Amino acid sequence: MSAKIIDGKAIAADLRAQVALETKRISAAQGLVPGLAVVLIGDNAASKSYVTSKSRALVEVGMRPFDHQLPGDTSEAELLALVEKLNADPAVHGILVQMPLPPQINPQRIIGGIQPDKDVDGFHPMNFGRMAARLPTMVPCTPIACMKLVNSVHASIDGCDALMVGRSTIVGNPLAQLLLAANTTVTIAHSHTRNLPDLCRRADLLFVAIGRAEYVRGAWIKPGATVVDIGINRVVDAGGKSRIVGDVCFAEAVKVAGAITPVPGGVGPMTIACLLVNTLRAACMQARLPPPGV
Ligand code: NDP
Repeated sequence: MSAKIIDGKAIAADLRAQVALETKRISAAQGLVPGLAVVLIGDNAASKSYVTSKSRALVEVGMRPFDHQLPGDTSEAELLALVEKLNADPAVHGILVQMPLPPQINPQRIIGGIQPDKDVDGFHPMNFGRMAARLPTMVPCTPIACMKLVNSVHASIDGCDALMVGRSTIVGNPLAQLLLAANTTVTIAHSHTRNLPDLCRRADLLFVAIGRAEYVRGAWIKPGATVVDIGINRVVDAGGKSRIVGDVCFAEAVKVAGAITPVPGGVGPMTIACLLVNTLRAACMQARLPPPGV
């Protein structure tokens, strides 16, 4: 048996096309051009490349990017001052501060400084609390991307056993909340979990976000399960060539799973598409328009 490959690139392209249509419609009808400020501190190559692809994606759907690149020795006070300025700017509907931040800056203070209705990453404690309370809010992009990918291969996941491996505040924890809201029976595993392979073998839906290259093996996967691999890890092969792999050993898992997301080309492109959706939602919310139809 070979699993169905969930084509995140194609599903994301479709979502981006819908966002572009809605953006065009509200720009024409309301004169509202959604704007996203992306703040990058220092010159981490991976972060730079994420920021470039985010800005390009914004322009492609008719939104306005505001790029702010600050030196690596920027102080917390300077960054907070920029966040305050962006909070007050009516052309900026969303603010994204690219993580990780240099050690002199406390990420929680920066996230807490972003106005919750401009928090398109959905990391602000108020937005997390609203999500846990099942109130309308800004949901983090990667978790919502994972849900959309699963929904592309399941008419319903009601009653399924879901395992979330990883409990970070940006992926594992919020994704577990979304899975619970979708009526799955959720188990959350982390670095202290005993018998991870056994837990994996029981999961109809397996989500992995641990940042460890090809850690989850094919023999751990329940035959026919849906596997969503969130990990992004750069590995260097014996010949010195580098490539990106996920947290799941794809070559083994594809032979056992019923459906699986590839890395690259799975969750990554969907995360960017969901950022565009959140930016559009933020712009509509701030302009007191009904939520967009995407
Ligand atoms: P964090 O490092 O913040 O969290 C990792 C989590 O994995 C922690 O909860 C940790 O447990 C758990 N963990 C680590 N080792 C193990 C293990 N051996 N067994 C079980 N659990 C383990 O990572 P992130 O959540 O930020 O990111 C995870 C991965 O997802 C990374 O590869 C990252 O690059 C990728 N990512 C991809 C995105 C995308 O768009 N595709 C977006 C964001 C992240 P504990 O809490 O006990 O320490």
